[in-house]
Amino acid sequence: MIKYIFVTGGVSSSLGKGVSGASLGKLLQLSGFKVTMAKFDPYFNVDPGTMNPYQHGEVFVASDGAETDLDLGYYERFLGVKTTKANTNTSGGIYKTVIEREMKGYYKGKTVQVIPHITDEIKSRFKAFDNDFDIVIIEIGGTVGDIEGLPFLEAIRQFRHENKKDDMLLIHLTLLPYISAAGELKTKPTQHSVSRLRDAGLTPDIIVCRTEKSFDDDIKKKISLFCNVKKESVIEANDYPSIYMLPEHFFNQKLHTIVMNNLNLKPKSEINTEWFQQVKTQPTKSIFIAIIGKYVGLKDAYKSISESLYLAGLKAGINVKEIYVDPDSDDMYEKIKGTHGVLIPGGYGIRGVEGKIKAITYARENKVPFFGICLGMQCAVIEAARNLCNIKDATSTEFDTDTKSPLICMLNEQKTITTLGGTQRLGEYKAQVKEGSLAHKLYQKKDIVERHRHRYEFNPEYIETLNEKGLIVSGYYNQTIPEIVEIADHPFFIATQFHPEFTSRVNNPNPVFLGFVEASYNYKINQ
Ligand code: GLN
Repeated sequence: MIKYIFVTGGVSSSLGKGVSGASLGKLLQLSGFKVTMAKFDPYFNVDPGTMNPYQHGEVFVASDGAETDLDLGYYERFLGVKTTKANTNTSGGIYKTVIEREMKGYYKGKTVQVIPHITDEIKSRFKAFDNDFDIVIIEIGGTVGDIEGLPFLEAIRQFRHENKKDDMLLIHLTLLPYISAAGELKTKPTQHSVSRLRDAGLTPDIIVCRTEKSFDDDIKKKISLFCNVKKESVIEANDYPSIYMLPEHFFNQKLHTIVMNNLNLKPKSEINTEWFQQVKTQPTKSIFIAIIGKYVGLKDAYKSISESLYLAGLKAGINVKEIYVDPDSDDMYEKIKGTHGVLIPGGYGIRGVEGKIKAITYARENKVPFFGICLGMQCAVIEAARNLCNIKDATSTEFDTDTKSPLICMLNEQKTITTLGGTQRLGEYKAQVKEGSLAHKLYQKKDIVERHRHRYEFNPEYIETLNEKGLIVSGYYNQTIPEIVEIADHPFFIATQFHPEFTSRVNNPNPVFLGFVEASYNYKINQ
């Protein structure tokens, strides 16, 4: 029987339920179990793809093209699993399913209600992985006490009632605030949030406390007594220099053993602590990377890029420091000049595009390592057309629908896509990489699979013209649509139509990121 671990959060949002769940998942995986994770978000957006990155952080693209919450990125990076639509659920999607069923007469005229219809749908989605995994960790978004979250708590209560005691367990993540005037960590908010859980008919089996300061046995005893959990099941989650260190801290507190005991599981293998060592290395070398994008005010908007740079740096022994640069700011050049590599991430709309193009000219002419992603690649193509091929009005039909020089445009094939994101190309697609190219050197193979999220493409009519002036296409989808471009006469200039940031893993960063970080370090030492 598959086992379920539910993770709820109390006191405050942003405590790191995703990272905590994924860290526990890693320990269980290292103990020999097949583990996956799923997220259930109480908000009513049917599809997180259209949510504003400023409010919600990046949209993570799952392998099947589902546009999801950024927590799925943590699941993939920590556990190395591929997520799909089944790993992400929102109230909006759940209610939509139930309402559509009702409209088709499925409920035969019965009154359709939160209990049992919505909760039944939630429970059936809990079970989406029944045949493929030993353990599923289910993260409930939001904070206990939110009105929208109640059906999820009720579904967990029913799930516990309907299954054997050791089939599931509940972990509650809370905050222990430190009140400096009193010089004390406070447990009261935790007590309150556990009592909110109790109102919903749930008692946690384990309490993980986010804290800035380590706590002693007295605090554990207090939480244990007031919240009705065993003392050893009160776990500390401190702020560590890297989120990838959390599994080791959980390991030291034997969280995995407590979980396995609760679920009546015996470890299938002994944990090899090498993983902990690998993520702990502190590189002594360092570089600065300029990230030039529209959402520089909120770093979560580029989460997977930032994590990919970090993981590539970890592998290469280089500490990557990010400098976020607004392409519309007056001091853009000043900021870029002190860096060792320029990265232009994906994005939508015209704002900032001219600044990004200027940054690309700078990187190309000064032989600064350059890495463009999606819109970043489209800007690199426009830059080359304007400045190498003298097509001065080169642009994308995204910015000027009637342009005479549509270097980037929507291809006919694209216009007919009617799935999830409307006309977007979403999720995994294969690409063939040209032998002898930089891309081939990085990937070390000809056939690659990467994830997409875009509407416009490099117009194949211009490939020849750009090629003659040095911007070559080194990867194609279906032998026709450009996927990767590069400039051969440059130490490292590469841009991809796909999003390589979604396939980086701990100890296995995406090869383009690794190459970019190494090239940027070489640039630094050769300067
Ligand atoms: N706006 C561009 C497009 O739709 C690029 C999208 C992106 O960078 N993700 O094609």
